[in-house]
Amino acid sequence: MELADAAMTARAGAQQVVSVKPPPIPTRALAISVLAFAVPIAAVFEFPTGTSTSYGMLVWLSALIPAFLLSYYRGLRGVAIALSGGMAVITATQLSVVLFEIAEPDWSLLLGIVAVYLGVSIGIAVLSELLRRERISAENLALMDRLTNLANRRHLDLALESAFAAAERGQPLAVVMFDLDRFKRVNDTHGHSAGDEALREFAGVLQACTRRDNLSARFGGEEFATILAGADSDGAVVFAERVLAQMRAKTFPWGVQTVSAGIAVHEPGMGSYELLLGAADRALYEAKGGGRDCVRVAPRFGPELQGVAEHALAAAVVPEAAPRRGRVYLVDDLVEMRSALRLVLEEDGYEVWECGDPKEVVRHFAAADAAERPGVILTDVIMPDMTGMTMIDQITQVDPSVRVVYMSGYVNGPVSWSGLPGAAVAFLQKPIGVDLLLSTIGEMMQRGAGEESIPLLGRVPGDV
Ligand code: GH3
Ligand code: MG
Ligand code: MG
Repeated sequence: MELADAAMTARAGAQQVVSVKPPPIPTRALAISVLAFAVPIAAVFEFPTGTSTSYGMLVWLSALIPAFLLSYYRGLRGVAIALSGGMAVITATQLSVVLFEIAEPDWSLLLGIVAVYLGVSIGIAVLSELLRRERISAENLALMDRLTNLANRRHLDLALESAFAAAERGQPLAVVMFDLDRFKRVNDTHGHSAGDEALREFAGVLQACTRRDNLSARFGGEEFATILAGADSDGAVVFAERVLAQMRAKTFPWGVQTVSAGIAVHEPGMGSYELLLGAADRALYEAKGGGRDCVRVAPRFGPELQGVAEHALAAAVVPEAAPRRGRVYLVDDLVEMRSALRLVLEEDGYEVWECGDPKEVVRHFAAADAAERPGVILTDVIMPDMTGMTMIDQITQVDPSVRVVYMSGYVNGPVSWSGLPGAAVAFLQKPIGVDLLLSTIGEMMQRGAGEESIPLLGRVPGDV
């Protein structure tokens, strides 16, 4: 595939949520180009013999420098600027010659210089345009999923961050998570490449249903997500039902490949887009539990506590006498994060069991007897396969009294949202201060089931 084609495909797949403004007119660059070209032309009139010597050529060459810079940094647009500047100067000088009857300059020299000026500008501009296209296509590829040509997880994060910021300012926002049903069986019975083909088919359906100002992305594996800026839950249900229906209409070697969808809408106090994704993921698991091939909407929870940041600071000062013993489940897909947190917790006397796979955590918890279960589960929100919120949903089905401390690295504002699952919950923003981490875990250890949750947010010196 040609580079230009790759760039086009990437651009088609990776739509922008934010619209692009036309670039402003570069008046300063235009002025520099006019001035630079005016210098040698003025010199031709003042010193007609001097400018045709070899030293005089240097003055001419100086006119090429802005053309060089403009064409390099601004591509073909730069050449247009340099040429329009140069032409304006030449026209002005010719007019001056006619109007003021000044001695004839060396026109053949002037012609030669203009030819060089044109050649150099266009040559550099073509090269820089090629470089620029290559850079754009590389950037697009970095934001694109290679298998499906949809936006990738990184692009989803960037777009969701800006859409979430708009939602915090009052714009409605819905997120839909899709997951192909019983997809493992497809891979096992028809092979991985048949599975890949089904993923591409679904991506095509999703892309066709997604409006230009929204964004659909491959979240990972056989999971996809769509950002619906400006949509409420009814609008999101219509969208998701349409995607599911179009998928149902397709036939595969194994028959119909159904898809399940979970929807969540932004709520005040959510604070982090990861919690919005987590809420959509919980709804998706509801859809799986409800028989698959269906759409479920996450319930609305609303804000719970106000003044969260102050609460976090107050909580950082826990009495020294507080017992700091007990078992902590530490769940994060990043092994470095787990090692750092484990070190801090163990130094403070906790017994730590760590894991990077939420499904494994659910199994481990269900298999453990009451004495082996943790006093607190410290978990990341977004992990592959299952979010921390969905994992806790499943754990609370085994033991509803579970206490949880959530961690997220993407926080736009104070978290004062009551939708986090768990009998008592706290929320910490990464990077987490050691003191805040220990005081939060200490406080949660002492809480009984069903006691008031303590959403916490804050950073203190001594980041983990
Ligand atoms: P459920 O209906 O509960 O979602 O069942 P499932 O089998 O789809 O769920 P599970 O998460 O257990 O399996 C997901 C499967 O998706 C596992 C893996 O083999 C497959 N998968 C993930 N990424 C890819 C990929 O890039 N290509 C292919 N062909 N398969 C993939
Ligand atoms: Mg699946
Ligand atoms: Mg899955």
